[in-house]
Amino acid sequence: MGDAVASSHVRLLAKDFRSSARAKADSYFILHTSSLKLAHCPRSLAPTLVAYVDHSHCPVLAPATLAALPSTRAIPDRDVFYLAHPIRSILPFLRVDFRVKPSLTGIILEELADFLRERGAPSYRAKQITDWIYKKRVASFDAMTDLPNELRAELTAEFNTLNTEIVRVLGSKDTTQKFLFRLRDQNLIESVLIPASPALYGQPSDRRTICVSSQVGCAYGCKFCASGLEGWTRNLDAGEMVQQLIAIEKESGEKIDNVVFMGMGEPLANLKNLLRAIRIINAPWGLGIGARHITVSTSGLAPQIRELANESMQFRLALSLHGATDEVRSRIMPVNRKYPLKVLLEACDYYVAKKRRMTIEHILIAGVNDTDEQARGLAKIARRLSAKINLIPYNTVEGLEWSRPSRARREGFQSILRKHGVIATLRREKGHDIAAACGQLRLQTKQAEREIRLSV
Ligand code: SF4
Repeated sequence: MGDAVASSHVRLLAKDFRSSARAKADSYFILHTSSLKLAHCPRSLAPTLVAYVDHSHCPVLAPATLAALPSTRAIPDRDVFYLAHPIRSILPFLRVDFRVKPSLTGIILEELADFLRERGAPSYRAKQITDWIYKKRVASFDAMTDLPNELRAELTAEFNTLNTEIVRVLGSKDTTQKFLFRLRDQNLIESVLIPASPALYGQPSDRRTICVSSQVGCAYGCKFCASGLEGWTRNLDAGEMVQQLIAIEKESGEKIDNVVFMGMGEPLANLKNLLRAIRIINAPWGLGIGARHITVSTSGLAPQIRELANESMQFRLALSLHGATDEVRSRIMPVNRKYPLKVLLEACDYYVAKKRRMTIEHILIAGVNDTDEQARGLAKIARRLSAKINLIPYNTVEGLEWSRPSRARREGFQSILRKHGVIATLRREKGHDIAAACGQLRLQTKQAEREIRLSV
């Protein structure tokens, strides 16, 4: 029914009930992953796995012993995993160890050197390992042929290499491509690969930007965005962010030049992991992408903007403003109630005074924030922050009623900004036909998977 467990990131620890029914809490033994089967649970709405104990492979849990156990059917844990035995429950005798092996793509070179030193291995091995991952792009420790076997085995026991999987790729007419990833815990995220100039006549485009997700879902609920429609599930770790780049470069055959943290999630709500990921993306031993080619977008978390101002890395910051007054901005972005414009702009003043420029993103929504008055207010804010403005025509989201303004209105809005001395570019929308707006592909896929499960 299911695939044998490929990775040992889920370990079952079974109480040794042979010696005593009241065994001590620490008397557990490990059920090896070869004695388990994992399968999707067809009847659950949650992205559920069922772990069946295949006791025929287990020398300790003999069928006769299992048959003597009390019975129930399934053991829910953390909403996403179910442990089950088809006949009799082993609930009182099992606990699930969800210790997830860290991904090597989330580890800093110096940390890797420390890990090796503690095990008596020379620290130069750390650079050999990062070369295998980031330069030679191997997917397993077995392929790292200049490492001793013993070390490879230790690394395999402690770390994962690549554990995010591309499950869908959609290419659009203008060559924007959208990638749907399934993470180790079955959650879905999206990334988009955007060429700066469309590829023509089979020639490669001249610059490739990847839009990276930083969370599964999002808690901020901006009204134009599909990512927030089902709320926040969890933060991505640094390795999962870095792997989006590695996997997309491999799948597309394209070298990525620019990174924008503008996919699913609010990056500044996951600041620690974000900064770690940026460090790895930027490092010469990592992906080697210059800090000025890395942009972090925020819906306006004022305290974290102040924190970023004190950060030494020189990546760029984009503020998703979308409204020049509290009244309009709060209609579009609920976060404005927590950090209204006064608080937000003071944090931005602090950032601009300590760092470089920031850019302002303004999604143009017909009849909501595309008036002349909004344009004048936006110009005032941009001048205060010495910021350039990116105008983005609204991308239709299924289930939301808004629409994009006419071309004439978009250009009229841009010309008001220019008249007030502000640099404003009107972005040519890309990927409108492939659900490229944040979170849409994931939402459609989750919906389709639900329908399949319900029909089973
Ligand atoms: S735009 Fe960004 S911050 Fe707002 S809901 Fe979408 S993912 Fe979250």
